[in-house]
Amino acid sequence: MKAFFSPDQLLHDPRQFMRLGRIHKPTDRPARVEALSAALADCGVPLEAPPDFGEEALECVHDPDYIEFLRQAYARWQALADNGLQPGIEVLPNLWPYNDRPSSCPPDSIIAQAGCYLGDLSCPIGPGTWTSALRSAHAAIAAARAVCDGVDRAYALCRPSGHHAHVDRASGFCYLNNTAIAAQTLIRAFGRVAVLDIDAHHGDGTQHFFYHRADVLTVSIHADPRNYFPFYTGYEYETGDGPGDCCNFNLPLAHGSGDVEFVQALGHAIKAIGRFQPKAVVLAVGFDTYKDDPLSVLRLDWPSYRQTGRLVGGLGLPLVVVQEGGYMTGALRLGLTALLEGILA
Ligand SMILES: [Zn+2]
Repeated sequence: MKAFFSPDQLLHDPRQFMRLGRIHKPTDRPARVEALSAALADCGVPLEAPPDFGEEALECVHDPDYIEFLRQAYARWQALADNGLQPGIEVLPNLWPYNDRPSSCPPDSIIAQAGCYLGDLSCPIGPGTWTSALRSAHAAIAAARAVCDGVDRAYALCRPSGHHAHVDRASGFCYLNNTAIAAQTLIRAFGRVAVLDIDAHHGDGTQHFFYHRADVLTVSIHADPRNYFPFYTGYEYETGDGPGDCCNFNLPLAHGSGDVEFVQALGHAIKAIGRFQPKAVVLAVGFDTYKDDPLSVLRLDWPSYRQTGRLVGGLGLPLVVVQEGGYMTGALRLGLTALLEGILA
């Protein structure tokens, strides 16, 4: 198994995010990487830095104007001081357009563009955010390309995470959709790919990107979004559209669900993947499902992660594992170790 991570991914060091009307200290801390790295070491999987694939490699998923915004946003924000304004330490919006498509966005104002491209108040852009997001995406591309080149399994230690990022919008701690980028990379080689997302939050950005596609199956097991981020998507009735009809499955779990309920949903997900007959699989894994995670409303423990590894590894297909959320350091090490032990068994 190969694994990829760039030290540049530590540069993203957010200082704030808004939740329940309060400014909180971010949960996506660089220390998460230490725990995930320790799990890889426990399992004897070495980490290597991904090559620099540049920005063009992102355009298989993201709008070029959005990529340019992410690259320049922090410098432009700081330049507001040249006009007598007092910008905060990070780029964050203070208004949003009614029609949030960038086509309605004044191109010259970083304030207006922040509202177009940053979908909520949990994705601040600081001095290291762009570099970290770019290198996080490169880790996903490196893992996918390794699998395209014949490696059975690869893991991308992606930080920041990606599955809430849309074509032209950041949200939920996510800037570039690493999972979608990995799937797009695989599709060129394999033609038919399944994505299984087991983060506590619905993978809305990933679902939306592939929603009209027949060549990518998207399956997400997550906490019921009726009272949980991302609220507006993640329901069972969202099954895909047009050519992608019946190529999207959401398996929301009641809040408080534990290993029994998760493993039951996992069984449904594996059956759906089997029916789709993919040639390769992307597993988007988040450990914010863990029972003691600060953002969790689920009650999972290590058996769920080990069983996920067993069943997904048991598909016998080329596999890319992409790291999504998970904010309790101890649980990250435990969870990833259990998952890898299941995959490698
Ligand atoms: Zn999450």
